[in-house]
Amino acid sequence: MDVNDEIRASGKRMTRTRRAVLSVLEQSQYPLSPTELYAQLKKHKVAIDLVTVYRNLVTLKELGLVTQLELHQEGQVRYEMREGRQHHHHIRCKSCGRIVDLLLCPLKKLTAVIEKETRFVVGDHSLEFSGWCPRCQ
Ligand SMILES: [Zn+2]
Ligand SMILES: [Zn+2]
Ligand SMILES: [Zn+2]
Repeated sequence: MDVNDEIRASGKRMTRTRRAVLSVLEQSQYPLSPTELYAQLKKHKVAIDLVTVYRNLVTLKELGLVTQLELHQEGQVRYEMREGRQHHHHIRCKSCGRIVDLLLCPLKKLTAVIEKETRFVVGDHSLEFSGWCPRCQ
């Protein structure tokens, strides 16, 4: 195999891996941590290591295909599909760790107030809820 073939092969591998990562995220009902994603890929018999998972997530984030979440109470980074989804927030169960999407943002009015008061242009915000899911109540 000459160098060109090698580059082509690794490029193809990257793409296939990236596609596998995306499809796992797409099928997930909740945002996944890199370790959970890695476990899912293993289950689907995708040959990959954790470092490659991290690297792919960084690339996908740069490409704007996935969103990175940092849930503070959990102290762990999670990722979810960005495509076809609007800005939203999450609630996490304190007992089992289940995370559910909240398909709305209650902060639009507040953002306008903040901008008016501070003359900042608000770029982003974070808001997270936690509690007990129906199963853990
Ligand atoms: Zn729960
Ligand atoms: Zn979400
Ligand atoms: Zn929001």
